[in-house]
Amino acid sequence: MGQISRSVLLALLAFTIIFTGCFGQPRQEPGVVELEEYDNTFFVMDTFVTIQFFADSLDKAEVVLSDVQWEMTRLEGILSSHLPDSDIANIEQGAGIAPVPVSGETLAILETAWEFAEKTQGAFDVTIAPILRLYNFASGKESRPSRQQLEINLPLVDWRGVQIDSQRGTVYLTKENMKIDLGGTAKGYIIDRVVEIMVGHGVEFGLVNAGGDIRLLGPKRDGTPWRVGLKNPDNPGGKYFAVIEVAGGAIVTSGDYERYFIEDGVRYHHIIDPKSGLPADGVRSVTVIAEDAQLADLLSTAIFVLGPAGLDFANNLAGVEAIIWTRTGEVLWSSGLVNVANPGTEFLFRSIDNE
Ligand code: AMP
Ligand code: MG
Repeated sequence: MGQISRSVLLALLAFTIIFTGCFGQPRQEPGVVELEEYDNTFFVMDTFVTIQFFADSLDKAEVVLSDVQWEMTRLEGILSSHLPDSDIANIEQGAGIAPVPVSGETLAILETAWEFAEKTQGAFDVTIAPILRLYNFASGKESRPSRQQLEINLPLVDWRGVQIDSQRGTVYLTKENMKIDLGGTAKGYIIDRVVEIMVGHGVEFGLVNAGGDIRLLGPKRDGTPWRVGLKNPDNPGGKYFAVIEVAGGAIVTSGDYERYFIEDGVRYHHIIDPKSGLPADGVRSVTVIAEDAQLADLLSTAIFVLGPAGLDFANNLAGVEAIIWTRTGEVLWSSGLVNVANPGTEFLFRSIDNE
C-alpha cells in the first residue's frame, strides 16, 4: 500500500491546504472515543491521491485504506484509456462498428459529461481525445500539432457522436477513430467514490486530495472551516492569491500551469478548445466549489474553455461557485462568494453556504 511518511504527505498537501487548528492531534475528551488521524497516498491515474481521516482504531483505519485502494484500482481499470480491456479502450475499439456494453460507473460519468457538453455547447467534450493525443502531454515528448493534423482530427471531436443507451448499458462512438478522454472529470468521480467509502465506514472528518483537486468530508475536526489556498498562475509555487474557507464539499482548480510546454514563446497547455483544437486562452485558472468533486472537476475544465463568459454559466448553476483568473490577470468571483475581512491575506472568501 506504499506508506509515505507524514512529513512528505504534509509537504504535498501544503501546496493547497493551509492547516490551522489541531488536525493530527488525538481527541481526548471524557466519555468520547479517542480518534486518531490516519493518512495514505496512492498513485492512481497518473496522480498522487492523498486521503486523511480520523478513526477510532488502527484496525478500522486499515479496512478503510484497503477498501479505498481496492476501489481506486478497480475504477482505474475501468476508466483508463491506457489499460487494455478498460471500458474506454473497449468503447474506442467499437468506434464506428458497434455499441459496447460498459459498467454503470462509465455510463454515469459519460451521461454527466454529455449533459454538460450540451449545456456548454461543446466547450466540455470528452471526444477531444484525438486532438489531445497529438500534443502528447503524457509522454514527456510534447509536440505542437500541425495545422493539417488538427484539420484531419477535428471532425472526430463531437460529443453528439457519443450514443449512450442507459437501458442497454452500452456506449457507441458513431465515427471510426473517435476517442474518449476522461481526464477532465474522472478524478473527481474517483474522489467522490473514496469519500463514499469513508462515510460508509462511519468516518466523519477527512479529506481527499487528488493532485490539488480536493473534497472535504465535513469541516475540520474542531468545527472550523478548511482554508484552501489558490495558486497564482504567474507564480504557482509562490504566495496564494486568495484563500477560500469551506466547510465541506469539493474545491477543484484547472490551470494552464499544470501541464504545458512552451514553443516559440507560446504556452501550449492541456485544456483544449474543441472548436479550434488549440489550448483555450481566455483564462489562466478556474477554481470551482461544488457539492461533489465530479461536478467541480468537470466544471473547472468546462469553465476554463468557456473563458470569462463562464462566470455567468457558474452563476446560473445552483450550489456552484467559481473563481476565474483571466488572461489579463483580472480575478472574477461568482455571486455566492463573500469577502471576509482578514488582514494579512489579499483575499479571504467564504462560500455563502458556510455562513
Ligand atoms: P483538469 O485538469 O481537470 O482541468 O482537466 C484537464 C484534462 O481534461 C486534460 O488533461 C484532458 O485530459 C481533458 N480535457 C482537455 N480539454 C478538454 C475539453 N475541452 N473537454 C473535456 N476534457 C478536456
Ligand atoms: Mg477538471
